[in-house]
Amino acid sequence: MKSLTTFDVLDIPSKTYDAVIVGSGAAGLTCGIVLRELGLKVCVITKSRANESSTNLAQGGIAVALSKEDSPDLHFNDTMRAGAGLVVPKMVRVLVEEGVKRVIDLLRFGARFERDKDGFLKFTKEAAHSVSRIVYYKDKTGEEVERVLLNTYNGDLIEGALLRELLVKNGRCYGVLASIDGELCALYAPVVAVATGGAAGLYLKNTNPPTSTGDGISTALRYGAELQDLEFVQFHPTAFCDGNGCFLISEAVRGEGAILVDKFGRRFMGDYHHLWELAPRDVVTRAIESQKRITGGEVFLDFRPIEERGIDIEERFPTIVKRLRERGLDPKKELIPITPVAHYYIGGIKVDTFGRTSIDGLFAVGEASCTGIHGANRLASNSLLECLVFGNRAAYGMYRDWRYFSRDFSEVRIKIERVPYKVEESFSLDDVKRTMWEKVGIFRSANSLMEAIEKLSKIAMSNSDWIVRNGALLGLAISVSAMRREESRGGHYRTDFPYEREEFRKHSTFSFRDLVNLL
Ligand SMILES: Cc1cc2nc3c(=O)[nH]c(=O)nc-3n(C[C@H](O)[C@H](O)[C@H](O)COP(=O)(O)OP(=O)(O)OC[C@H]3O[C@@H](n4cnc5c(N)ncnc54)[C@H](O)[C@@H]3O)c2cc1C
Repeated sequence: MKSLTTFDVLDIPSKTYDAVIVGSGAAGLTCGIVLRELGLKVCVITKSRANESSTNLAQGGIAVALSKEDSPDLHFNDTMRAGAGLVVPKMVRVLVEEGVKRVIDLLRFGARFERDKDGFLKFTKEAAHSVSRIVYYKDKTGEEVERVLLNTYNGDLIEGALLRELLVKNGRCYGVLASIDGELCALYAPVVAVATGGAAGLYLKNTNPPTSTGDGISTALRYGAELQDLEFVQFHPTAFCDGNGCFLISEAVRGEGAILVDKFGRRFMGDYHHLWELAPRDVVTRAIESQKRITGGEVFLDFRPIEERGIDIEERFPTIVKRLRERGLDPKKELIPITPVAHYYIGGIKVDTFGRTSIDGLFAVGEASCTGIHGANRLASNSLLECLVFGNRAAYGMYRDWRYFSRDFSEVRIKIERVPYKVEESFSLDDVKRTMWEKVGIFRSANSLMEAIEKLSKIAMSNSDWIVRNGALLGLAISVSAMRREESRGGHYRTDFPYEREEFRKHSTFSFRDLVNLL
């Protein structure tokens, strides 16, 4: 499989840039800002409105070693510990050292992070951080980050522009095929960055915006890029879900003192981990699911201990309180039912420290990439930092390569037929999401994964829309990777292999060759 679209670049309008970036979240915009500073003609395309991104929804904050009690070494150690043996130390060193400078960049751009009465930055705490390390703005840090980055970026930005295909020939990327307001258009550039965010939106229950369907990761896979650690998905322990969907209740709520209780009102996390509610996310997630099964009832978050510490929850978590009240629940007075849902995609397009992928001219940044800093389990609030640090570095990588790649695209003739479907039936994205949630979710087994592989390979080759086939393909790759990892580690839990196994303490890689027999 390669293209899911039939096109001939000679038959459609085209534009030429020095760099094209797909995605307007923290990663894409950071990269775009630096490339503009270096003088390149940049175009950011984004499939919905510019601020529709996971970045915009981030609540908790950004982890950065800036407090008096902290140091990059401490941040390094916490990140290594959280990642369950799979963190890449070289990448984390870059993250914690350069992260300090990148957060200062945000302050220069005008980010209004919380400060104490003397003007010093305030820091909050989240799970598995040994000190208070998270800079934040109320409970809407992401909105603030997205705002300042959009204000600072001064290149072209096209909203409603969907990445459909990569223009790849002989192992080199020459640009992207986008659908802009429904019309196909070729955007040529010597260097292209995929910054399309994660894939948690491929799960029925998730905290992500509808845009997080793994589009860029799956497209890169189709064109031959090497992917890494696809089986690792982070499920967040505390989301509120009702008929209108799910939204996140930030870990910072537990960081400030909220506790988890079961249907009998019993605080149970001590049965599972000595850090109680601030145990690593995967531990809390499975503990909640187990407690639900044991008691046959729901699990609740009790915000009231926060107020007992003298913190006004309306002031500290205004968005969360407002959204709960809109649903008739008052966290000041009552317990809030919560449930674990898909939240963050750890796997992605394999990159080096400058965001280079295995395809010449193609870069990947942010949640779409896999730098290895999260290992098997992301440390809370490290992901925005990753977007800033590696978005910045990818820009320099792109600049360096741009100088050597030709900017003449007149000889690039790409004419492709869409891969024909083999299954007449058509499916919806919900079919993909339900399969992922039920068969490739918090608890997995060889049986559930085999069922997922059968269903998703059928959907990938069906007469369905681009977004459905593309999403099913990534779902299939995740399922195959999860099947191969016959152990439990971090966010990947196999009921048939419930322990870590030393022989699996290594990264998994994935390329399109791994799927050929299934399609
Ligand atoms: C509810 C929530 C809370 C979070 N809280 C925190 C937190 O407190 N701290 C933290 O560090 N992390 C947090 N995270 C994670 C963090 O927000 C993300 O990992 C990070 O913002 C990802 O940034 P990104 O730029 O890689 O992707 P995004 O911000 O998701 O941006 C991706 C962009 O790509 C575009 N796009 C996608 N597909 C296409 C396509 N086919 N064509 C064109 N454009 C496309 C999207 O429209 C979007 O503009 C949170 C995530 C969520 C969902």
